[in-house]
Amino acid sequence: MSNQVVTRTVKATITNHSQVRDDLDSHGFAASKLWNVGRWTIGRVWDAIGHIPDADELTSYLKSHDRYGDLHSQSSQRVLQELGEAFVSWYEQDDPDANPPGYRKRGDQHPRSTVTWKDQGFKLDTEYNRVRLSKGANQKTSRYAPDYILCEFIPQTERTLEDVQSVQTVCAVWTGEEWELHFSCNVKIDVSEENGENTAGIDLGVCNTAAVSIGDETLLYPGNALKEDAHYFRHQEYDTEGENGPSQHGEWARQKKARRQAHFLHALSKDIVEQCAERDVETIAVGHPKNIREDADWGRHGNKRLHDWAFEMLISHIEYKAEERGINVERVDEAALKTSKTCCRCGSEADSNRVERGLYICDTCELVVNADCNAAENMRATVTPSQQGRTTTPLPDRSNGCLAQPSVRLFNKQTGRVALQEQVRP
Ligand SMILES: [Zn+2]
Repeated sequence: MSNQVVTRTVKATITNHSQVRDDLDSHGFAASKLWNVGRWTIGRVWDAIGHIPDADELTSYLKSHDRYGDLHSQSSQRVLQELGEAFVSWYEQDDPDANPPGYRKRGDQHPRSTVTWKDQGFKLDTEYNRVRLSKGANQKTSRYAPDYILCEFIPQTERTLEDVQSVQTVCAVWTGEEWELHFSCNVKIDVSEENGENTAGIDLGVCNTAAVSIGDETLLYPGNALKEDAHYFRHQEYDTEGENGPSQHGEWARQKKARRQAHFLHALSKDIVEQCAERDVETIAVGHPKNIREDADWGRHGNKRLHDWAFEMLISHIEYKAEERGINVERVDEAALKTSKTCCRCGSEADSNRVERGLYICDTCELVVNADCNAAENMRATVTPSQQGRTTTPLPDRSNGCLAQPSVRLFNKQTGRVALQEQVRP
């Protein structure tokens, strides 16, 4: 394993907003004014000598300007850097019709630009979720007023700032209604140098939203929550639709459905990645079942568009959550590999190999297994080093989770979590 550092943004809601709003407003306004001073300066130099000054030149022109002192020096520097970058990307576009970067929000009485604080400009307290943001020298109204803005916050994601490597910058961003904080963090992740033996394959489908093969174990994630919701809410949406389009109730149902589906996909991907991490999986193979399974029984509630969307969301959630845990995710072309048509034990692929009521039946080796587990195991083989390149040759002592009873992990609507279904003992 080696370490790799990736950058992540953690958004946070400011909990003492009313206390810091005025200070943030005046800093956001100052950033807009400095941008405009910089923009005006570029225009003048450009007209005079036909050269567009870059961010460094701009900074040396404006370092002693009054507006530069309205923000912490590093924050001011960042505004001019952004302006310089905006000009570079404008002329690199090489489009005669494109306008150069303009002045900031001239129509707005009080434009609130994003303000960025870099290393010297902020002090973070991860224990109490507080951050001190240095004020510009000109903003210190009296000698007794603190020279910083103390923001208390709660992160909007599951990630807390305690488990990140280091915070590079803090931005105060105006959302149109309030200020929020964006922490740009370095996160250390473990990346395997070579493919480990621990691999997982994920098969996505309509009946089981996901089947995950992890070597000698298979996990099944039934899609009941997604399907029942789709069915229930479709009634709510359409039964109440009137002449003037969707009623309020229909709109409510649509939004509620979208939120529940989003939550289901989050909970599902979280559990899948956690289960893989617990078993030291280093590589996951997953495919989008878009083009195969044309033959699949979409059934009464098998809404194809819903599932296309849901699969894509699910895969990207898995990719994101796996990366944080240092697990590689490889997208595999299912259709080319015929993961659903191939026997995961003997590797034979024949049209006569049948899928019946969710079972895969191999005519060659007489394997009878859950069809989704079979596909997941084939998917896993594509990223398992000892199995790569396997087409039809079976491997002698392949540990094969397909043969074991899969564990069923169910989404619980009450708790909103995915958990192992209680085993029913005979
Ligand atoms: Zn077989």
